[in-house]
Amino acid sequence: MANMNENFLKLQDNYLFSTISKKVNEFKQNNPSKKIIKMGIGDVILPIPKSIIEAMHNAVDEMGDISTFKGYPPEYGYQFLKEKIVENDYKSRNVSIDETEIFISDGAKSDTGNILDIFGNNNVVAIPNPVYPVYMDTNIIAGNKIVYIPMNRENNFIPELLEEKVDLIYLCFPNNPTGTTITKTQLQKWVDYAINNKSIIIYDAAYEAFITEKNIVHTIYEIEGASKVAIEIKSFSKTAGFTGLRCGYTVIPKEVIGYTKNNEKICINKLWARRQSTKFNGVSYITQKAAEAVYSEEGKQQINKNIKFYLENAQIIRSELEKYGYETYGGINAPYIWVKTPNGLSSWEFFDYLLNEKCIVGTPRKWLWNRRGRIF
Ligand code: PLP
Repeated sequence: MANMNENFLKLQDNYLFSTISKKVNEFKQNNPSKKIIKMGIGDVILPIPKSIIEAMHNAVDEMGDISTFKGYPPEYGYQFLKEKIVENDYKSRNVSIDETEIFISDGAKSDTGNILDIFGNNNVVAIPNPVYPVYMDTNIIAGNKIVYIPMNRENNFIPELLEEKVDLIYLCFPNNPTGTTITKTQLQKWVDYAINNKSIIIYDAAYEAFITEKNIVHTIYEIEGASKVAIEIKSFSKTAGFTGLRCGYTVIPKEVIGYTKNNEKICINKLWARRQSTKFNGVSYITQKAAEAVYSEEGKQQINKNIKFYLENAQIIRSELEKYGYETYGGINAPYIWVKTPNGLSSWEFFDYLLNEKCIVGTPRKWLWNRRGRIF
């Protein structure tokens, strides 16, 4: 008889986006002639830029030629891509990250979940609320104790420091779902908290490419001390339209330390390297060649054009909503607009209203808890 991980039974009925897609499919079946505007799961709509497609075509040809064919890729990623990441995403911002601290992945979602493999089961984990649901669900599955950090209009969507000590802290800026950001000074407070409490920050920077304002860091390692306590997770999905291609990367500086029960120090980079070499066989050569092309001059120009398009759309959505009296946030450093539901409607009621009356798909969210506190 197989024992099951009963933590799965503690998850809310359905993963948020599965529920949305079920409702949308039902609506489509009942209203086949209606055109739906999809703003639910944060998918991209523009195709992958031409220069990146060309890089993939070349890589495909290489795979068909015995002199250039590639078998299994390196588990941690090809050198050619890691070099570009170091140069463009870190060195250009005066941040020192070594190639051995970068792990190429098949996307940020996998790594935000998989990273829990290297931590023990009895961690207290701080998760901002509202948040990208993967952090919460993966920690429930892992059996961790979750403490929510409220992010709301009262605190300007800035997660306030906790009085209690936690072991892991998830931060996501620019933020999904609120579209808001955090300043350098505010983020420094969290890094200092982590240093003082021997906590680790898991920093999801999937939307970094959308930052337009100054005084917002593009990587957490721009903050003093962060390379001692932070893991950074990045994605090419929204930056370059890779949602269907799948590529991202995780940075774990060698200084980031965890502890055994006996208080012995453990190098987290080493543990993650071991985890990846055991459970992951790397990202395809073709995909990594595509990611490399993101950093070419042509690639950068084409990507920036697409990002501008998404940010312009966000501005149109925001200004139209405001015209009709809705309270809105975000859209300046992120593609997301966060809307306060009108007339006391719950987020799912407003979701149903938008879908059934306006043929628009949004993403419903609610505060899980309106004050600092533990739920599970
Ligand atoms: N992190 C955040 C905050 C996201 O919003 C998303 C996708 O919507 C992801 C990670 C997933 O990224 P990927 O497509 O690289 O798995």
